[in-house]
Amino acid sequence: MNCVNIKIDGKDYQAFEGQLLTDAAEENGIHIPTLCHFKDMFPPLSSCRVCMSKVNGKFKTACTTKVWDGMEVEVNTPELRDLRSSIVEMLFAEGNHYCPACAKSGDCELQTKGYEMGIAVSRFPHLFEARKKDYKAKNFYIDHSRCIHCGRCVAQVETDDHQKVFYFQKRGHNTFVGMDYINEARLSKEQVFRAMDLCPVGAIIAKERGFAKTFGKRKFDYKSAVKYLEFESLKKHDFKAEESNGRKVVATASLAGCFGCHMSLLDIDEGLLDLVELIEFNKSPLTDVKKFSKRAHIGIIEGGIANSENYENLKLFRENCDVLVALGECAIWGGLPAMRNTVPLEACLEESYLNSMTGDQGKKLIPYHTDIPVISDKVYGIKDAVMIDYFIPGCPPRPNLIWSMVKAILFGTKEKIPYEDLKYD
Ligand code: SF4
Ligand code: SF4
Repeated sequence: MNCVNIKIDGKDYQAFEGQLLTDAAEENGIHIPTLCHFKDMFPPLSSCRVCMSKVNGKFKTACTTKVWDGMEVEVNTPELRDLRSSIVEMLFAEGNHYCPACAKSGDCELQTKGYEMGIAVSRFPHLFEARKKDYKAKNFYIDHSRCIHCGRCVAQVETDDHQKVFYFQKRGHNTFVGMDYINEARLSKEQVFRAMDLCPVGAIIAKERGFAKTFGKRKFDYKSAVKYLEFESLKKHDFKAEESNGRKVVATASLAGCFGCHMSLLDIDEGLLDLVELIEFNKSPLTDVKKFSKRAHIGIIEGGIANSENYENLKLFRENCDVLVALGECAIWGGLPAMRNTVPLEACLEESYLNSMTGDQGKKLIPYHTDIPVISDKVYGIKDAVMIDYFIPGCPPRPNLIWSMVKAILFGTKEKIPYEDLKYD
């Protein structure tokens, strides 16, 4: 094969003529993210579009572009990073991704792309569509909520006599991956495990292998193309709040969440001693101060909106805090409480109060009183109700991550966040 000269982001490299750009870049140590392509896959699927690059000034998917002599490629520009991030954000918002409850967590390519791109929040509203889970097959269960329609399983999974197992059904927004139950039952154990590994997300789970790997042994636990992310305050905040004895004022609240983010805040351990030198807590469950006695520089909110009281409390924080931070996944997009969003509210209430094993059996009563906050139709992230300035990801966010980001926001410092601190599940 002939060698050709190409330029990537202004630097000279060599590649084999006709090689796919994704593969040529990878061999030269440049990672172009993709969710459908894997090395030597031909023809490329080109379904996810995450590898979008610019070739001689034109947008092209790197997995379908063959290199030629003199080619000039842009990969790592702010425009392209934003474009790729928007695609991945769309995939998160379009499916139902509850990572801590997913057997693929830690081995999932979508989740890893999210971490690597530093995606704390999707710019798109979450759809929370009720999609089917299919447990009927002998070897797999399929969660259609997590499928990103990459087509890998359709292209690659087959029986020894080359019969397809997966195929696309319906079209457009209604597309889903169907399964041939007769053929899937004929797959060997190795073929079943390969199908699960092939799926970049947790849509195809081998029944015998869910949650089989312990933390630290999963594929992406320590491996990442990105070693750390840089974080700095977006703007030098012109705080209206007044300092108290030279300390910034912080308020916190826990809405629809489990209080785990606050527990993580307390896990800063000896860092708490530094913290109290620098900040004073005002309204917060940590101090048990119930009302704002002064304006806060920063308000930190854990949990999403699941009822009218959550919403009123959130509005109060927005009015009384200069900067508002969403802490953890429940605040960012609803998190685990949002698992109820794919089930009708009436069914949730029935299950909790009328059919529950722990309820008062036979007492057909769903509690109602004017003092009880009105439950919302769905659980919402707090950005759906008020303007949020920053998002700290995690379930819960790691203590170091919280402290680094809060420091950067309050004092305008630039923090390097190691991949391990950003990664959660
Ligand atoms: S780990 Fe599971 S829930 Fe999380 S992004 Fe991957 S497929 Fe979705
Ligand atoms: S089931 Fe997995 S491999 Fe198949 S199309 Fe969906 S995401 Fe891709």
